Amino acid sequence: MTPVADLTDPVPGGRPGDVERATALTGELSGKGVHGIVLSYVDTAGVGRVKTIPTAKLASAAAWGVGMSPVFDTFLANDSIVSTDVLGSPDGDLRLYPDLGRLVVLAGQPGWAWAPVDRITQEGERHPGCTRTFLRTLVAEAERRHGITFQAAVEIEWAVGQGPAAAGEFVPAVSGPAYGAIRQVELSDCTADLLAALAAQDVDVDQLHPEYAAGQFEISVGALDPVAAADRSVLVRQTIRAVAQRHGFVVSFAPAVLAQGVGNGGHLHLSAWRDGTNLHSGGAGRYGMTPEAESFAAGILRRLPALTALTAPSPASYLRLKPSQWAGVFTAWGRERREAAVRIVTGTLGLRDQAANLEVKPVDLAANPYLALGGVIAAGLDGIASAAGLPEESAGDPARLTMEEAKARDVRRLPTSLTEAVTEFRADDVLRDALGPVLADAVVAVREGEVAAVDGWDPERIAAAYRWKY
Ligand code: GLU
Ligand code: MG
Repeated sequence: MTPVADLTDPVPGGRPGDVERATALTGELSGKGVHGIVLSYVDTAGVGRVKTIPTAKLASAAAWGVGMSPVFDTFLANDSIVSTDVLGSPDGDLRLYPDLGRLVVLAGQPGWAWAPVDRITQEGERHPGCTRTFLRTLVAEAERRHGITFQAAVEIEWAVGQGPAAAGEFVPAVSGPAYGAIRQVELSDCTADLLAALAAQDVDVDQLHPEYAAGQFEISVGALDPVAAADRSVLVRQTIRAVAQRHGFVVSFAPAVLAQGVGNGGHLHLSAWRDGTNLHSGGAGRYGMTPEAESFAAGILRRLPALTALTAPSPASYLRLKPSQWAGVFTAWGRERREAAVRIVTGTLGLRDQAANLEVKPVDLAANPYLALGGVIAAGLDGIASAAGLPEESAGDPARLTMEEAKARDVRRLPTSLTEAVTEFRADDVLRDALGPVLADAVVAVREGEVAAVDGWDPERIAAAYRWKY
C-alpha cells in the first residue's frame, strides 16, 4: 500500500475515526512487542525533535494530542533560543497529534514505532509555526484551487564514521573509492540490515550506493505526495542512524561533514500532476514539458536565491554550496546537467509519463523538509500563476559562462552565505506570504541566530559545530 499523508487538520477529540483506529493499533503494536512510540517533528532550524509515549497512550494522543512547548520553533541547532514577536517565549503549550496513517514500526529500533505529528493549539487551532501543517495546507490548497497534485522524493546522502567519535571528530568508517566496490563490501552487513529495515517499514528504495566523499553513501526512494515524502525523509534518516548505531558506526547528514570537499546533499525531486497526468511529460515545451511545467520550473529558478534560506539553512550549508561539486549553485537549468540548480529529468524512453520530474539541487539535509518542499512548491505555483517564461538552457558548468551568456539565461550565483540568503528571503513577498508571518519571522530569527552563533569562526570550526546536529 502506498503511504499517503492525512491532509486534514487534527481536532480536539481526534480526527474522525482516529481514536478507534488508534485503539485497534495499540493491540496490534503491543502484539509486535512495541513498547513506545516516537512522535517526531522537525524544528525551524532543521533539527529533528521528538517526544515519546508508551504504546498504551496512543489512543489518548490521537484524541487529545501530547503537550509540547512552542519554544522549539525558535531553537537553534546548538539548542540555544532566539525569539520573534510571537515565538520563543517559555509560555504556552501545543498539542502534538500523530498522523496514524504514517505510523510505522521501527525495524532498526526494536520496541519502538514512529509517527510524524502536526501541532495545534490547546484551543484546537492550527499552530502557525507548524511546518508540517504549512506543507499540508499548501498541498491541499493547490489541489482544491488549481487541480494540481505533486509527487516528491528527497535524496539522502550521509557520511558513515567510526564510532564513538572521539571529541566530535569524523573518522570515515570505510576507505574504498567513490562509488567503489570495496566501499560496498566494507559496509555490507550494515547496508543489508538497512535495506531490510526500510523494506519492513514499507519504504520503497530505488537505489543505495557508495557516494563520492569520504565515508559517504546515498539512498534514493520512491516518490509520494509531498507531506508523506517529507515524513519519509525524516523516517529514513532515523532508520539509517539507528541501524548504523547497532553496527557501531556514527552517521552525519550535515551539509559539510568536513570544511573542504564535497558535502551531503538532500536533492528534491518533484513533479506536478493534473487529473493523473504528469505535466512534465508529453507536452509541447522543451524536453516534453507542458507550458505549465516550464513555468513551474521557471518559478522555482527565479526564487532560488531566496529559497536557499529554506533549503540551505545552516552556516555549514555554505561550505557545501560551491561550484563544481554537483550542488547546483547557479540559477541555471538543464536536462541531466548536474551543475545546474534545476535538473530536468525526462526519464528513459518508455517510462517518461511516470518518471519525468525536476530535481532541485541546492538543498541539504539541514533543511526542514516540510519547509523546503513547501517553499519550492509555492515558488513553482507562483511561476504557473504568472506564466513565468523559462530562459534558455545552460550546458556544462555554469561557472564557465561568460557574463553575457549568464545574463541572457538569467543565471545568477546563489547566495554564498546564510546572511545573503536571509536578505533574499526577507525581500521575497511570495515566499513570506506562503509561509505566513509567524513562520516567516521564525525562519529569519533562527537563521540570524545561526549566523550570530558562528560569528568570526573559520570553516573548520563551523563544520565541526554542525557535524553531529543533523
Ligand atoms: N554530494 C552532492 C551534493 O552535495 C551531490 C552529488 C550527486 O549528484 O548525487 O549535492
Ligand atoms: Mg549523490
